Amino acid sequence: MIAVLWPIVAVIIFTFFMPLMSELNIDLHSHTSISDGVLTPEQLLARASAQGVNVLALTDHDDVSGLVDARNAAKLHHVQLINGVEISVSWETQTLHIVGLGINPEATSLLNGLAGIREGRKDRAEKIATQLEKVGIHDALAGAWTYADNKQLIGRMHFARHIMALGICADTQTVFKRYMTRGKPGYVAHQWVALKEAVDWIRNSGGQAVLAHPGRYPLGTGKMRNLLAEFRTAGGEGIEVVTSNHTLDQRTRFTELAKQFSLLASRGSDFHSPEEKWRDLGRLPALPATCKPIWHNWKFE
Ligand code: AMP
Ligand code: MN
Ligand code: MN
Ligand code: MN
Repeated sequence: MIAVLWPIVAVIIFTFFMPLMSELNIDLHSHTSISDGVLTPEQLLARASAQGVNVLALTDHDDVSGLVDARNAAKLHHVQLINGVEISVSWETQTLHIVGLGINPEATSLLNGLAGIREGRKDRAEKIATQLEKVGIHDALAGAWTYADNKQLIGRMHFARHIMALGICADTQTVFKRYMTRGKPGYVAHQWVALKEAVDWIRNSGGQAVLAHPGRYPLGTGKMRNLLAEFRTAGGEGIEVVTSNHTLDQRTRFTELAKQFSLLASRGSDFHSPEEKWRDLGRLPALPATCKPIWHNWKFE
């Protein structure tokens, strides 16, 4: 009798308990062609679903105008969308990126602040083009704009795609290395907003501020600790412990720092394009078990 019932019991256990046991695939950092990604919001949500992502934050650089289309597409593809943004910040001599999660994309101070950053990007783009002219890359401003779907936002990636299309470099990472990073011909130092200001916009719109990809900043131990202390005091709540460019050592290091500075841990791919296999949607390790996730008190549908 038991032998006969066992398969039925197994099916019941599997059906009811497996979904509870399996973890959600949560990816809280991604881009569309509203900033410097290549997919539209609809295409991004379709890809997230195909990649098995259950919860996705769209975090375009300095612009939230992709969130309306993203929300409609999220319903269609059964992905839970978190309203997000990635704000460019200057801290000491560094450019930092602060991700806002759960923001209100209609909040006035946030919208005005982001509009100001986008104006600054246009000025910087003119300077970048002037410098590229000097190394023989002509009309780069017009060229870069052809790669910007959103005529309100231009960034270094649009220059990189243009330079790549000219056949000067094989991929955008090589363009960055040769032209677009500090000390290289197309690099322009730029004053973004202050850390506290960006955190305030996020918090005043109901969101949580997260320090993006901390392993990418060339900061020694002391400076990193100063940054985390200041970020926490400013109202920052989280840090990306798991992000596509982190090594295992960096995950361990930032797990420890998150604990020391009472920061919650986030997980995000920083997806920009299906061509960049190293930062694809949802393809990341789980958060280390000792981390407290930024989503620990979020309500999932
Ligand atoms: P921007 O905000 O205009 O200064 O551009 C920053 C963006 O450029 C980042 O969000 C990345 O998408 C891209 N980026 C920066 N550094 C690199 C790199 N070394 N290789 C490829 N993309 C990069
Ligand atoms: Mn980017
Ligand atoms: Mn970033
Ligand atoms: Mn990003």
